[in-house]
Amino acid sequence: MSKEALKHEKQEDIQLYINGEFVDSVSGKTFENFNPFTNEQVNVVAEGDKADIEKAVAAAREAFDNGPWRTMKLKERMKYIYKIADLIDEEVERIAYLESLDTGLPISQTTNMVARASENFRFYARMVEARLVGEAYQVDDEFINYTLNTPVGVAGLITPWNAPFMLETWKVAPALATGNTVVLKPAEFSPLSANLLAEVIDRSGIPAGVFNVVHGFGETAGDALVKHPDVQLISFTGETTTGSTIIKNSADTLKAVSMELGGKSPIIVFDDADFDRALDACIWGIFSFNGERCTANSRLFLQEGIKDRFIEALKERVLNINLGNPLDYNTQVGPLIHKEHYDKVVSYLQIAKEEGCEVFTSEISEENKKGNFVAPTLLLNATNDMRVAQEEIFGPVMAVMTFKDEEEAVRLANDIAYGLAGYVWTNDGKRGHRVAHALEAGMIWVNAQNVRDLRTPFGGSKDSGIGREGGHYGFGFYTEQKIVHVAIGNHRIPQFGK
Ligand code: NAD
Repeated sequence: MSKEALKHEKQEDIQLYINGEFVDSVSGKTFENFNPFTNEQVNVVAEGDKADIEKAVAAAREAFDNGPWRTMKLKERMKYIYKIADLIDEEVERIAYLESLDTGLPISQTTNMVARASENFRFYARMVEARLVGEAYQVDDEFINYTLNTPVGVAGLITPWNAPFMLETWKVAPALATGNTVVLKPAEFSPLSANLLAEVIDRSGIPAGVFNVVHGFGETAGDALVKHPDVQLISFTGETTTGSTIIKNSADTLKAVSMELGGKSPIIVFDDADFDRALDACIWGIFSFNGERCTANSRLFLQEGIKDRFIEALKERVLNINLGNPLDYNTQVGPLIHKEHYDKVVSYLQIAKEEGCEVFTSEISEENKKGNFVAPTLLLNATNDMRVAQEEIFGPVMAVMTFKDEEEAVRLANDIAYGLAGYVWTNDGKRGHRVAHALEAGMIWVNAQNVRDLRTPFGGSKDSGIGREGGHYGFGFYTEQKIVHVAIGNHRIPQFGK
């Protein structure tokens, strides 16, 4: 379908995808889905709850226990995974369009992001083929002990709205490639691309029940998935407080959890940094994806020598960023996902004023006022103890602070509950490494914007998460490591009662 035709496509109402079929919810209930640019309804979505989760988990359990998925030859299973990747590639324009329509993320950015989604499947197919290997331990001439990686069972995947398709595929690909079956509960604010993922996976011909999608709210559908005794794994990406609730609620059924949570990541720019590149990276890191990015550099620390010049350059850029229709390729910042989230972000601008910040931002045009727009904003004169410097705002808002020397930069950067990402800009190579080692965060970039390498571990420390996904690191979560001990000699066996 051409880009123009896509704009006229009416969005059909969305159903759940359970046991290889698109179905209404058991209760027949639906919820509305809104366009963040117009705040008009896009379509309605089947609202799954406990009864639908029961159905989806039963299908996934049956497919795991008695279906061919986990026992089929690896090559055959990987054919499905590669096929899903190819089918995603065929739909890139449509997925990017739906993602922008649904979330308000600019289409130039969703297009790049979606292009990477197929790579999640190819990457995990290759990883499983090459790296899902065991280890053998020889014990003298008495034993050979070896490890096996077996699929765990039914994986419950719970995802947020901020980069929906990318994050869903980031979890679905390793879960399926390692032989698990899946129930995905996508975020209620962004159901469109999750539905297309179900369509694509359905078209791959994957056996019924291996992959299921239940739309619905966190407190009902999500909660039922978390508490279901037949679900062995919960991989969650979302807010830290939700993660903590999920850990508590999954305790009774003793699940393995992987938690990719919130962030409030520092970017430290030293006087000797490459000024122009640091400026580009700083602007991109906070204002791309409308600032709704877990790894956004929402706390800027500037060394005193460059602070005035850097702030002037930031101000100039902020006033020139294009706000507009997310479906327009020239748009750089679109509307926030939902009115509810908009209200939260705007409330922080008020808090910033009350805390003594100068709130520097651009005007929202009349045309954009119908959407959930927050213009790119700098919170000048912020200090690290302020709420706006400590709490995740999750919008295009950056707290700007200063520091004297390396010791102070590291101390301030680490003085926060979160530990997801960190960015360091300096032309002193030794200092770059030193600061990277000292920062308390799971992922650090030195003289770089947030460029990902799928082979590396992804995740946060402190309140930003538990566990690592990505590369072979995800295997520890998505597979059970089994040890087999084989005697090859006559080791001593105690002879009780002889
Ligand atoms: P959220 O926590 O509100 O919701 C995430 C998902 O959890 C949704 O599908 C929601 O329906 C579900 N949910 C809510 N309550 C639940 C419950 N009690 N039981 C089970 N499921 C429940 O998060 P959000 O607002 O959708 O996403 C934004 C957050 O995600 C930000 O904090 C951001 O930093 C974080 N995030 C983290 C990463 C990472 O990799 N660390 C990546 C992207 C986003």
